[in-house]
Amino acid sequence: MDRFDPLTINVRSGHFIGGDYVDAQGPRIEVTRPSDGVVYASVPIADAATIDRAVQDAWTAFRTSGWARIAPRERARVLRRFADLVAADAHTLAPLEALGSTRPVRDAFNWDVPFTAEGIRFYAEFADKLGGEVAATDHDHLGMTIAEPYGVIGAIAPWNFPLVMASWKIAPALAAGNAVVLKPSEMTPFSVLRLAELAVEAGVPPGIFNVVQGDGRTTGDALVRHPLIAKVTFTGSTRTGAAIMAACAETGTKPVTLELGGKSPQIVFADAPRLDDVARRIAGAITGNAGQVCVAGSRLLVERTIADQLAERVQRLFSELRAGATWSPDATLAPIISEPQAARIEAIVGRSITGGATLRCGGRRADASTPGAFYMPTLLTDVTPHTDAVRDEIFGPVLTLQTFDTEDEALALAAHPDYGLAAGVHTADLGRALRMVRGIEAGTVWVNRYGRTSDFMIPTGGYKRSGIGKDLGRQAYEANLRFKSVLIDARV
Ligand code: NAD
Repeated sequence: MDRFDPLTINVRSGHFIGGDYVDAQGPRIEVTRPSDGVVYASVPIADAATIDRAVQDAWTAFRTSGWARIAPRERARVLRRFADLVAADAHTLAPLEALGSTRPVRDAFNWDVPFTAEGIRFYAEFADKLGGEVAATDHDHLGMTIAEPYGVIGAIAPWNFPLVMASWKIAPALAAGNAVVLKPSEMTPFSVLRLAELAVEAGVPPGIFNVVQGDGRTTGDALVRHPLIAKVTFTGSTRTGAAIMAACAETGTKPVTLELGGKSPQIVFADAPRLDDVARRIAGAITGNAGQVCVAGSRLLVERTIADQLAERVQRLFSELRAGATWSPDATLAPIISEPQAARIEAIVGRSITGGATLRCGGRRADASTPGAFYMPTLLTDVTPHTDAVRDEIFGPVLTLQTFDTEDEALALAAHPDYGLAAGVHTADLGRALRMVRGIEAGTVWVNRYGRTSDFMIPTGGYKRSGIGKDLGRQAYEANLRFKSVLIDARV
């Protein structure tokens, strides 16, 4: 699927609580299509009373539906069916995802929806494979740990990959036997509602997977603070993550998983094989989803002797991209999520140029024939670690270039004062690659590639202010469980 007519997409709004849509009164938020700036729907803002209803319903379902108690193999079977329904629904889900987000429908159809389904399938397989442990004790005792779900997990998701980011939260939580109340971003609220419908169709008991709509200040905050929320899992900005952590501390020392912002370096040594391929990786890592990716490779660090050659290649690749609506088959550059976000990108680039950076290309909106908020891929050189565009997470297609002569210089430039989410190293020298892997303070380091494969076993998460805990991998499953220690005395 590579196109659709946005006027033909049926959008269902509301909260999804207790297995069905819930009518909502009160204030609403208008939802805008980033591709053309058209307001196409609105969502209600769940207040504290609505959150209480959703969490109470989830808690009741957790205790009474049997989801946490059924044979884990049965839970896995239901989740596999859920995954199958998601995959089979791609013709509905992909345009729904693309309509109001920055995801081109071609990508949503070929990647986001299948990847969401596969993630659910992946965690379904953990349900009956990982349990507790038996401890080594003397023969008069049996010591063990029993893995138990928390109860109701509060999940909060960002707008940049609405389905995939939500699935990374809900799939391990459900597989571990929890109930979930999910709040999607108010900018991309609809595709996860379809996900919730499909979960119920697959046999997930009503009330086990709920979706509440609203903003951060009212809805997100009320969700995090609800006394029956036993754990919070969040993906979003570092600032919001810190506020959520504080709220979790104030309302019951709730454990948190935080997947936060990044400012990831891509380090290219002169010996890196096939410079054309390297350039494609560099360009792709900052223009994919128009740079609105937590692990966007936004800081290019390149050995001085090849800096000009690489910059020229990257610029050429940038110039080939065509801005266009997510429903247009010819578009290769996604829109920016909102007008304020595009204005923010412009302001950071402007301040960087005023501060001494050289604009090599981009630095402007797409031409007026594209009505949405599109920002052209931008390359800035002559920057320092203090340049705004080097320091701030931009969340747009803006790449800065710095040069180095030695490995130590590369490592010093790679270190960011705040972020440590991901990094890329491009070199033919294995010893050097390993030295860089060890030296870089980041949760993920890719060598001679940039970005994930479809392998879900490799967890993702940040060092420093890029986050706490992991999504994906076994770690994300275990983070949705708590472990009870049991010691049985056999001498009675
Ligand atoms: P954001 O922090 O503005 O919002 C994320 C979510 O939090 C939204 O649903 C929002 O409504 C909610 N929220 C806002 N304030 C809240 C509060 N006080 N309490 C509870 N909830 C609140 O982030 P965004 O703009 O939607 O997403 C972009 C950010 O997400 C970037 O910083 C990006 O790096 C990060 N991100 C990180 C990862 C990762 O895996 N590390 C993945 C994707 C995105």
